[in-house]
Amino acid sequence: MTSFVTHLEAAIDGTRLPADRVQTIHDGRPLWVRYDLDAVRGSVTADDLARRPATMWKCRELLPLPAGVEPVSLGEEATPLLPAPRLGARLGLSDFWIKDESHLPTGSFKSRGLAMAVTMAAHFGLKRLAIPTAGNAGGALAAYAARAGLEAFVFMPQDTPAANRIECVLAGAKVFLVNGLINDCAAIVRNGMKAMQWFDCSTLKEPYRLEGKKTMGLELAEQLGWVLPDVIVYPTGGGTGLIGMWKAFAELGTLGWLRSEKRPRMVSVQSDGCAPIVRAFEQGQRFAEPWKDARTCASGLRVPGAVADFMILDAIRESGAWAVAVPEERILPAMKEAIALEGVSICPESAACALAIQQSVCEGRIRPDERVVLFNTASATKYTDLIAPELPVIEDPSRVDYHRLA
Ligand SMILES: *Cc1c(COP(=O)(O)O)cnc(C)c1O
Repeated sequence: MTSFVTHLEAAIDGTRLPADRVQTIHDGRPLWVRYDLDAVRGSVTADDLARRPATMWKCRELLPLPAGVEPVSLGEEATPLLPAPRLGARLGLSDFWIKDESHLPTGSFKSRGLAMAVTMAAHFGLKRLAIPTAGNAGGALAAYAARAGLEAFVFMPQDTPAANRIECVLAGAKVFLVNGLINDCAAIVRNGMKAMQWFDCSTLKEPYRLEGKKTMGLELAEQLGWVLPDVIVYPTGGGTGLIGMWKAFAELGTLGWLRSEKRPRMVSVQSDGCAPIVRAFEQGQRFAEPWKDARTCASGLRVPGAVADFMILDAIRESGAWAVAVPEERILPAMKEAIALEGVSICPESAACALAIQQSVCEGRIRPDERVVLFNTASATKYTDLIAPELPVIEDPSRVDYHRLA
């Protein structure tokens, strides 16, 4: 049995590469997975999907794994799309939703990409995987590699959140703390390829992680009855989330499954402590200069340079959107406010998105009645090092002064 994949395509110059063997990058830049969408259209309908289990594997026809092959899975259930009226009102919106990716097996949307990447790596018989990570990608690789019985090497900056270090260690990965940023970790993985014989699972250095991220777009479209929202606001590090969803919408459009021509504006959000994509967007450039002295508490956004910079910028521009850098010092307060308003476990990266929405509404770039979806890319519980609340202690449980508790 086969998949509907026809070939891989170099994003930088359109070169076609065969998909029946291990592929990485072309000319240093990422590859697209291309499908025979006419054949997909002939073999499955949107109505068929509704009858299948609600997991990221639902539309196997739009995924690279050949039919009949079991994916490496930890149970990637469709994540909830939650109405968020209280936070919406605070941001100035009347039709505001949160797609809560914190429900995924490793507590972040990275599960989708690495479930897919590890599935394909196992399918191709690879045994040893390596990844540079700002945190959540390492945790996801470690978990899925364990699930597949593969070896994982994880390289992360020294100040990566404790939850990420611990989840990697518990899953049996070989974990190394690096005195540097994610790009330094990436260089270690790249330069060690010969000596260590590992496969580089860096963001967009292999073609399949993006296909896993694409399922966010497929799932959202189905949850909204095949009518896409007006605006999607997404935190941007390496860019897979934003690019993957934009690819999903293009494929769904070609399949004819979307009930409206409307495509969302894909708003990219970074912190002003690390905003290479925002700077390139504002300067009208197609590629982004690496950011110096990258600094943000939202570790998923601490990516000074992305190999897919031009793909991110193309998606933002094609969608008619923009990129926003929010003030670093406002991210944690915004995170606490958002969680207290809705109870959703919003991570710092997505709190930055809430700030960006507020700013965009104020500037008139988003109208108050537009349908806006914010992606909560991870669970706030993975960032416990950032929050150390000073809590009152009840010293004597037998003598509580209740009047002072309110
Ligand atoms: C990785 C990550 C991001 C950034 O996603 P990209 O697809 O790399 O742009 C955002 N939020 C969280 C929580 C992450 O782990």
